[in-house]
Parts: sequence; C-alpha cells; structure tokens
Amino acid sequence: MKIFENVYLVPGHINSYLIERENHCVLIDTGMSRSAKSIIQTKKSNFPEKSLEAVLLTHAHLDHIAGLETLGQLYGPEVVCHEDEKPYIIKSAKLPPREKFIGRTMGIFEIFMSSSGYTIDRIVVDGEVVHGLKVYHLPGHTPGTIALEDMETRALFCGDIVNSNKKGNAILPPSRMFAIDFGQALKASIKMLQMSKPTALFPGHGKPIIEPKEAIEAYLEKYS
Ligand SMILES: [Zn+2]
Ligand SMILES: [Zn+2]
Repeated sequence: MKIFENVYLVPGHINSYLIERENHCVLIDTGMSRSAKSIIQTKKSNFPEKSLEAVLLTHAHLDHIAGLETLGQLYGPEVVCHEDEKPYIIKSAKLPPREKFIGRTMGIFEIFMSSSGYTIDRIVVDGEVVHGLKVYHLPGHTPGTIALEDMETRALFCGDIVNSNKKGNAILPPSRMFAIDFGQALKASIKMLQMSKPTALFPGHGKPIIEPKEAIEAYLEKYS
C-alpha cells in the first residue's frame, strides 16, 4: 500500500517499507519469513521492472530480518546494516541480554534465531549516506540500531527506536521489554527526534505518522 510520496508499507508482524527510486527500489527491514511473500507481491504489483537494489536492516531482531533469506535468493540485493549490529545478524555473537527477562517464549524465539545464516554486504556508520538514506546510529534497543532518513523526502524510518499508537497520531517510547538498555534507548529516541525534522515517521511497529511535528513536540515534552 502506497502511504507516502515514494513509500509502500508492507504490513506483517512488523512494518517493512519499500522505497521506490527512479530505476530501482530499496527495502527497509524484511519482517518475518512469511512477510517476504507480501514484499514480493507489493513490488510486483507496483514496480515489477525495478530491481531490489538493497535491503537495509535497522537491527538484528528476528522479526525485522527473517525474510532476508527468501528475498536475498530471489533478488540478490546489497544487504546493509550498522557495523555494531553485524555480529548479531550473522550470528557470530549473541545479542547482550535484555534488561528485563521476558521468559520462556523469548528463549524459544532465540533458539530459532541462532539457526540463521545471513550475510551482510556492507556495513555503515553514523552520518553515512547509503542508497540515498542518511544513517543515524542510536544504540539502546540493540547496540547497532539505526534510523534511516531519506535525503530526498526527509521521511524517517526508525525501526524500534520509537513506536506509534494505533491511530497514528502519537509517538510511543521504545519497548522496555526488548531493550538491552532502556535508559539508553529512551535517550536515543529523544536524540533522534531532536536531530531530525522528518516529514513522516515510519516505525517498525505501529502506524506511520505523516507530518509528525505535533507528535514529536508532544513526545519531547513528555520524555526529554
Ligand atoms: Zn527490535
Ligand atoms: Zn521490532
């Protein structure tokens, strides 16, 4: 579904976003394995001729990366993440424990995670522009969590740095349950919203917020 100038939302367990460029498209986060099908379908019905040039991963949590296997095989995109997140995506290291122990379900989830064999083609650092997107390194949720700002439209794709409510009119703080350091994650969210003046805010969870100026002001007033 087209939701902004050049942005298509692929809903699933999380939000994946396809960005259409002149001659190709890029994807932000893949969702779970089954989301790959919806991503392929969205691409097919809107710009079948354009190649998927890159997949940019905001962070290593399974629900944001698991579709990579299918999409990688089908399109062979360049896979991009922050340098501090790469070990957790390729599984050469385990993510630091979360602040809050969230029990058995998460344990099973992580056993499943350890079976992934993804490759990263390019690592990025804070301030770098990659595929027309500026990288903001904002650790806290995970060590190498990033937000990506489209240099053309100033839309901000923020993964799990903040969430939004169901109506799409308020910004919610990052999840305490899933953060490796909630205090740092909250600070990161404030920093992101102070630094960028986005025309649209595209979180990994919740509804996109178009023209988020008021929502940002309300968030900063409440949390900063
Ligand atoms: Zn996450
Ligand atoms: Zn998430």
